[in-house]
Amino acid sequence: MPTICDVRVCQPITANSPDDWRTSIGQILVAIETSDGTIGYGVGGGGLAGMHVIESVLKGLLLDQESEPVEEHWSRLSRAVLPFGPEGIAMMALSGVDLALWDLRGKCEQKTVAQLLNPKVHLLQTIPTYQTVWETVPPEVAAATTGVKLHLGASASSTLSQTAFVAALAKQVQQAREAIGEHRPLMVDAWMTWDLKTTLKFASRVEAFNLEWIEEPLPLTDLNGYETLFQECPIPIAGGEHIFTAHNFRSIIDRRLHTILQPDICWVGGMTEMVKIYALAREANLRVIPHRGAELWGLHTIAALDNQPLAESGRPWMSWVGGQPKIIDGTIQLPERPGFGVEFAPSLFHAPTTKRL
Ligand SMILES: [Mg+2]
Repeated sequence: MPTICDVRVCQPITANSPDDWRTSIGQILVAIETSDGTIGYGVGGGGLAGMHVIESVLKGLLLDQESEPVEEHWSRLSRAVLPFGPEGIAMMALSGVDLALWDLRGKCEQKTVAQLLNPKVHLLQTIPTYQTVWETVPPEVAAATTGVKLHLGASASSTLSQTAFVAALAKQVQQAREAIGEHRPLMVDAWMTWDLKTTLKFASRVEAFNLEWIEEPLPLTDLNGYETLFQECPIPIAGGEHIFTAHNFRSIIDRRLHTILQPDICWVGGMTEMVKIYALAREANLRVIPHRGAELWGLHTIAALDNQPLAESGRPWMSWVGGQPKIIDGTIQLPERPGFGVEFAPSLFHAPTTKRL
């Protein structure tokens, strides 16, 4: 088997990349090349710090090694980051490395990653999607047919009383429901900014609008709050995009903190961890709906492992990921190319807008 001869990492940035952590920390591109010239690609996170972790710690553990078994690489690499990053930036970086190794695995076997995960996968299936929007439903989304997830609460004034705040949120939900009609799925995302009382009040106020879930209403650390919500909230609770590793998902699952699990494959630890999370969820009879699942990294798991496939719209500024299929008429299909089916211009690693160490 060919051996790993190079590991490269960079951070491509496009003109429409948001001017916040989602650009500076949320995304990096990893390329792992083997001695026969095959290149596996993965997108991780951690920004310049994540790139430093790869360059200074992970790369040396991979060079001159065979690319298989990927799961053993994951164990070695995760042990190496244990003292400084079993969660957060180092795990985001490791995710990109793991995905690049899975891309290599697919290319070596001439199979899509979805086929590696499930030999019986129906590659041409059309996967339904939902569109994530902020505060209001834009006209083009209102005119479409997909489900809609509404980010709520970011623009609310901190001077509002809890009652006025919940009333304002409920008004936004009502307007969104009116914009998309009665039958399309509607969800909300509070991005960890509410508290338990606000969430329960909000849930009882908007029950009539038929929400599929409330996503990340509480800070990640409020485990008791999530436990109460699981028992008392009339609307299912979703979350997981900021939780790292299958080990941590096991605690969330065992304590029944969420009804819907939303790991982000580019941050949680890569495909190796996603496979474990799907298995845990299946055992517990919980649903997995990966964060930004329409991006190719997560789309393969949805196609291969999910009997209720649903993909969240991806980040529009990731236009440097070549081969990414578009959402057409509300659905998306996997490409049939080996690996993840992604393509990158080699010049990306040298482009003027790319950050390198
Ligand atoms: Mg979210």
